Order: sequence, then C-alpha cells, then structure tokens
Amino acid sequence: MADRTAAPRLLLVEDDRALSSMLVELFTDEGYEVDVAHDGQQGLHLSLIGHYDAMIVDRGLPVMDGAELVAVLRSRGVVTPVLILTARGAVTDRVEGLDAGAQDYLIKPFDVPELLARVRSLLRRQRDTAATLTAGAWRLDRLTRTVSDTTGERADVELSERECALLAVLMSSPRQVFTRTQLLESVFDRADTQGAVDTYVHYLRRKLGRDVVRTVHGTGYRFGDR
Ligand code: CA
Repeated sequence: MADRTAAPRLLLVEDDRALSSMLVELFTDEGYEVDVAHDGQQGLHLSLIGHYDAMIVDRGLPVMDGAELVAVLRSRGVVTPVLILTARGAVTDRVEGLDAGAQDYLIKPFDVPELLARVRSLLRRQRDTAATLTAGAWRLDRLTRTVSDTTGERADVELSERECALLAVLMSSPRQVFTRTQLLESVFDRADTQGAVDTYVHYLRRKLGRDVVRTVHGTGYRFGDR
C-alpha cells in the first residue's frame, strides 16, 4: 500500500493565476503538497508523470479543457480522483465533467471551507476505493501499481506508470485483441511510435512472465493470463 503518513499530493490545474496562487497557499497551509499547471496540456503531462492523490481541475482551460483532460486521463487508465471547478452554472457543463470521469464538481465562486471538505472527501474515497482490476490469476492495484498473483504462488511485482497503464488496458477487457495503434493511443503520448508498445510488452513479460501478454499475429496483443 501507499505510504499513508506522507502529505497528500494534489495537482491543481487552473489558468487563473491569482486564484491558483491563493489555492496553492491555502492547500500548503493545510499540509498538502501541491503542484500546479496553468493549462490542460501541462496538467495532462504532470498527471501522467506524477503520482497524485487527488486533482482539482478547472473546467475552462486553455489548450485542452478540463473535461477533455479528465476523459484522456481515464482512457489511459489513470484513476486519480478529480474535482472539477466550474464557473458555468449550466447543468450540461456539470454533467459533462462527471461523464468524463470526474468524481465531483464545485461551482465558482466557492467557499474555501467547502472546497477543503470536498477535497478531504475525495481523498477518503480514494483510500476506500480499491482501484483494482482482476483477470485470470492476476490482480492489479492501479493506485500502488502493484500486481499480485491471486493464487499466492508469486511475489507481488511493482510496475512503472506506463507498464501499469498498458496492463490495465489489457486486463480491463481480457478477451479483446488490441491493435498496436489502439494501445498507442490509450497508453502512450502522441510522440511515441508503435515500437513503444512492443517495448513495454517486453517489459511486462520480463516482470510477469511471457504469457501475461499474448501476441496475436497480424493483429496485436491481448491479455494472456499465464
Ligand atoms: Ca479557467
């Protein structure tokens, strides 16, 4: 399990500099560690390379808006809980954020005690929700990025962020054959080539055994149990 004694880590994605400075100060005073991004692309980058306990994401952001950011994260297997901040009162905007995979939303302007309470609630929910996937004999905990063997025959194995994301996609639909292009789009950055998929399949096999990912010749890969 993750170290629960460490300060919770938050990622704030907010393009209003005055508001983001105020919130960073507020959360820091409350004992959180906070990183901040000022547009959706930067927020996506940080959320993929960092390891956050919760994210606070403004709905209206430059480059990539908040709902799109959350949708991309979820498609890549990142399960970090998200609170959307929205200045828009329309029901459709709130629903859009939740549909994209956010856990909660707060309408601007908000009261600070309410924001803090919502963040505490997200963190509780994150601890309570075992973000696990089970397929075959494997169980993957996406929060700790640990794979365990449900038969108890093998020791737990820790994965990198990308190994975990790739295995999560394969395990989420264990009978489906995924093309390299599908895996590339759901797990990797646009700059990566299809060779990156093969590389990470190789890493997974090295850690978990050859059969964990099956090659489907002429098509791609699927989860293979063992
Ligand atoms: Ca904004």
